Amino acid sequence: MMIIMHPGAPKEQVSGVIAEIEKQKLSSHVIEGVEQTIIGAVGDGHYVAKEIFEALPGVMSVQRISQPYKLASRQFHEQDSVFQLDGFTIGENQIPIIAGPCSVESREQILEIAQSVKEAGANALRGGVFKPRTSPYAFQGLGEEGLEYMAEAREKTGLPIVVEVMAVSQIKMMEKYVDVFQLGARNMQNFNLLRAIGETRTPVLFKRGMSATIEEMLMASEYILSGGNTKVMLCERGIRTFETATRNTTDINAIPVLKKLTHLPVIIDPSHSTGDSAYVSAIAKAGVAAGADGVIVEVHNDPAHAISDGKQSLTPEAFAKMVKQVKAIAEAVDRRLVDQHERV
Ligand code: PEP
Ligand code: MN
Repeated sequence: MMIIMHPGAPKEQVSGVIAEIEKQKLSSHVIEGVEQTIIGAVGDGHYVAKEIFEALPGVMSVQRISQPYKLASRQFHEQDSVFQLDGFTIGENQIPIIAGPCSVESREQILEIAQSVKEAGANALRGGVFKPRTSPYAFQGLGEEGLEYMAEAREKTGLPIVVEVMAVSQIKMMEKYVDVFQLGARNMQNFNLLRAIGETRTPVLFKRGMSATIEEMLMASEYILSGGNTKVMLCERGIRTFETATRNTTDINAIPVLKKLTHLPVIIDPSHSTGDSAYVSAIAKAGVAAGADGVIVEVHNDPAHAISDGKQSLTPEAFAKMVKQVKAIAEAVDRRLVDQHERV
């Protein structure tokens, strides 16, 4: 439920409400607005009467959140969530572009790609070092060695790094390196992993499971939010349908639907949603036109020889062209790309 405080309610009254929430074995999540504080109280579903909170000093009203997801809902957090990532803002009118290879393959490869995506306008670098491959015999990633190369690429370009975490046991080690955890489609309902990521304060790029409904996606993101990690970006990366002409089907509808249901930023991944470099730019533009708050795209210096996802990887030249076109679309919908000069 949401406990809405009177405008200007003093800190002691807010603390009193939080103490009662804890007494009721619920957890509290505070949103401090300019005029008013709202406190979310969530728990394991056991019934707690709202009158208990209505009687407390400073409380203006108490409302139950009607959706099954609570902290992710717009009802709880009406305004878009906005947070900082190494000098630029996610969730405002600016659109960041995250680019890089599917997998980190070598030091030279990642340093070269990092430099070229930066020159073409990327704001963050992606690159997997633990790869969720369909076959156990396929390349599984460079592990910590790959993170060292990613960290070097960050140092050389200033781009923050986004890397997929696949297991609870990797979190502690990876936190030392990464700016953003990617939670992969195949792990979207790995609830232990979600809870463990929720205990960190590292921002998360949260990918939709390939067969997950929008509601399942929001419920799963709730596992992270309820642990107190509020920096969650949702990513539409395509879903499985009967169509075989493309690797997945981009659920463009999901973008405005998510923007209506949740305050969390929404990122489009046109690489995995199409599986073909020929369609990536079109779907990046469609995503931004539909209201996406950012784009994540696979770029490789030699797609034909990429160890993973070469077919869907853009060359640096094709990426540069895509960025120019996405910029025009962003401006047409009253947004803009992040200006690299704004970075600190
Ligand atoms: C990836 O980003 O390389 C990846 C494996 O993505 P997804 O989890 O969306 O398949
Ligand atoms: Mn990939």
